[in-house]
Parts: sequence; structure tokens; C-alpha cells
Amino acid sequence: MAIADALKLVHKNIMQSAAKAGRNPDLIQLIVVSKTVDIQSIKEAILAGATILGENRVQEAREKITELRAQLPDINVEWHLIGSLQKNKAKAAVQLFDLIHSVDSASLADELNRHAVNMGKPQRILAQVKLSDESTKHGVDEDEIMALLDKIMELDNIALEGLMTIPPFFDNPEDARPYFKRLKDIADKALKKGYPLQELSMGMSNDYTVAIEEGATMVRVGTFIFGERNY
Ligand SMILES: *Cc1c(COP(=O)(O)O)cnc(C)c1O
Repeated sequence: MAIADALKLVHKNIMQSAAKAGRNPDLIQLIVVSKTVDIQSIKEAILAGATILGENRVQEAREKITELRAQLPDINVEWHLIGSLQKNKAKAAVQLFDLIHSVDSASLADELNRHAVNMGKPQRILAQVKLSDESTKHGVDEDEIMALLDKIMELDNIALEGLMTIPPFFDNPEDARPYFKRLKDIADKALKKGYPLQELSMGMSNDYTVAIEEGATMVRVGTFIFGERNY
């Protein structure tokens, strides 16, 4: 499928899932995941209306952002970091990304804040929560979330906006539903206590419609738009 057609279809599915759940579709943002995707295809997506791009590696994102700003100087898009971040790349991440979805430790938050203060930039972030036992997944454990949120709230230049999670991959997206419910539940409880967690980043190509039914405000979709990645 052409990139523009795939984008249209995702937007249509977002509308349908929002309607099914009685939610306002305007509160659901599509993060177009462009990791490993070539410049030409990303450009095609932007020209077809993509407004937020998601990348998982700092260096790869830097090259693409530089190139695309040169090629499309009049078009402004947001860049989000969706992959795990090492502390030694915190400075570059603050330079490059509008929103960082993957903050999972107090020390990383501290480091991001230090650079954000130096640059005079309020850095928007989400806290990544780990809801499964998979050792390959990053994120803060459920029982340590509140401590991390408290720590993040103390940081002057860090703007906490919500939570992110990556459930295990299931062939049947229904199997991911309990994980989305769990993240929504955690966010609602924290919201009641006054934590500013409006955003829920959850759902990928395979399961974003289910994630929307469960309250996602940001879905991260790559393969469905660009086709299979060949790493
Ligand atoms: C790659 C990636 C996605 C997109 O996954 P698709 O299955 O290609 O839609 C979403 N979120 C994160 C964190 C990713 O690394």
C-alpha cells in the first residue's frame, strides 16, 4: 500500500476505534514510527500529512532530522524518542526531541533535566512503565512508579505528561488489552492524586485499535504505514 493510503487508513481506524469507545478522536495523536525507514519514505509521509515522527535511536534521528529540515525547510514536524535512552546520549536527546517517551529511571530524568536547564528548554517526557516480565523490555517496575513520578516532579525543566508502555507481542491483539487497561488504571489513580498524566502512549501496528479502546492518547505505528522493516 502507498504510504499516503496507509496513513489515511490508520486515521480512519483511529476515528472508528474512538467512536466505538465513545472517545474524542481529536485527543488521539498518531506517532508515525520512522525508525530504519529511508529519508524519501519519511518525506512522503510528511507530505501526506504526518505531523509527529517517532525514532528509537538518537544518532539515526539526528541524521534524519538534519536532512529533512534541509529538504523541507517550511514544514515543521515533531520528533519523538520512543526507544530506550542511555544517559550519555541525554544531551543529544534534549537537543533533538520534542517528547521523550522512554524515561524509566530517576538518574536518567536527572540527566535530562540538567541538559534541559542548560539549554533553557522545558523537556516534555513520559515515564515508561514495564508491565510484563520480559527481560528485553525497558521501563520502571509497577511498584516503583510513584517514587519515580515524585522524583520527576521535583525537576525544574522536565514536563511530565503521561505514561508509556510496550506490552509483549501477541498475534492476537486482544491479548494485549489487559496491559493497556492496567496502564490506564495506573494513570487514573495517579491523576486522582494530582499527577499530570494526561497522555497514554500505547499501541503499535498490531494492536493500536485495542489500545485506543482502552484509552490511548498516543499510538505509535510504523510497520502498518511503511511496511516490514529489514533490520
Ligand atoms: C518500533 C516501535 C513501534 C512501532 O512498531 P510497529 O509494529 O512497526 O508499528 C512502536 N513503539 C516502539 C517503542 C517501537 O520501538
